[in-house]
Amino acid sequence: MPYFESKRQSGRHFLQIPGPSTVPDRILRAIDNATMDHRGPDFGLLGKQVLEKVQRIFQTTQPVVIFPASGTGAWEAALANTLSPGDRVLMCETGWFAHLWQEMAGKLGIVTDLIKTDWRRGADVAQIAERLAADKGHAIKAVAVVHNETSTGATSRIAEVRAAIDAAGHPALLLVDTISGLASAEYRHDAWGVDVTVSGSQKGLMLPPGLSFNALSKKALEASKTAKLPRSYWDWGPMIASNATGYFPYTPATNLLYGLDTACDMIFEEGLENVFARHERHAEATRRAVRHWGLEVQVEDARHYSPVLTCVRLPEGHSANALRAAILEKFNMSLGNGLGQLNDRAFRIGHLGDMNDLTLMATLSGVEMGLRVAAVPHAAGGAQAAMEFLTGNQ
Ligand SMILES: *Cc1c(COP(=O)(O)O)cnc(C)c1O
Repeated sequence: MPYFESKRQSGRHFLQIPGPSTVPDRILRAIDNATMDHRGPDFGLLGKQVLEKVQRIFQTTQPVVIFPASGTGAWEAALANTLSPGDRVLMCETGWFAHLWQEMAGKLGIVTDLIKTDWRRGADVAQIAERLAADKGHAIKAVAVVHNETSTGATSRIAEVRAAIDAAGHPALLLVDTISGLASAEYRHDAWGVDVTVSGSQKGLMLPPGLSFNALSKKALEASKTAKLPRSYWDWGPMIASNATGYFPYTPATNLLYGLDTACDMIFEEGLENVFARHERHAEATRRAVRHWGLEVQVEDARHYSPVLTCVRLPEGHSANALRAAILEKFNMSLGNGLGQLNDRAFRIGHLGDMNDLTLMATLSGVEMGLRVAAVPHAAGGAQAAMEFLTGNQ
């Protein structure tokens, strides 16, 4: 059955939303293998191999749990395994995704203390420090932060959040969502002292949607022994027990695990540090294009610029959704929409995953051509400015 409502367009579709990102052919070929018996003798080898590789992506030697679920499932797992009804969690509203995580916590019976922001920067570490210092009775059980806020393009400084918790001498757990940061933005689960890291498959890992992750710490595992929120599907206990031999307590997404194994290989072949540097470079090139056009980058604090995506504000009176629609129709490229309060006010350019200089240049050229056809006031030459940066002639 066709699932294209619009007319077929030639050439490859540019999927430049900040996740799902384009899946490279090598990963598609890995997924396209016969599904094996997940309780058979060979599966344990695949399971053990992929669990070990994914630890290296999170930069941890501690357990990483893999769920057949979208990132939202792993959010729930992080909360359900560590907290009890009525527990307080300190959260920072960096944007739409932080808002959704907070909403979920409320539905699960967790009390959230929210630090508001103007959605133009990452988590406010000074305010986190202040709230923790004031919490003499240690009522706050966890601090939950979105590392890479995909709705605004703000990357929070997780090592500084950890330092603030330690400086306050506070025992709260540190829960971090890096669903869109993992394998694109620098991330170090162990070195940064994160207790639970939440991630997903369809962004930096270059896989289709359908896998999500919790990387754990000793302290998180300890908390899971007394946490009283109901949990069954998301329970870490049976997962970790089965994973010891490379198996899973229920049917894993076998074919996505083939893909994950290949995705990890591709990242190691390039080098994790090189992957981070490539994303930083493409983000800088993108910001130069945006500034040249005379448009505004959503994030105001340069310390919080995301290497994964750039959220671009349109001038008052111009529709970001109309611009995206024109770009899709004319140039076969999807860009991210503005989420929540940014709907129609901004659009998002994803520069994550399987990108190189040419895919970035095509993306920026598509945006610039779109600005022209949608008659959005801008200075021509932003793509040229990016090109000059990429070729070292800035
Ligand atoms: C994509 C994303 C999510 C949601 O993940 P789903 O896979 O859509 O459930 C949550 N947080 C962030 C930061 C994201 O980028």
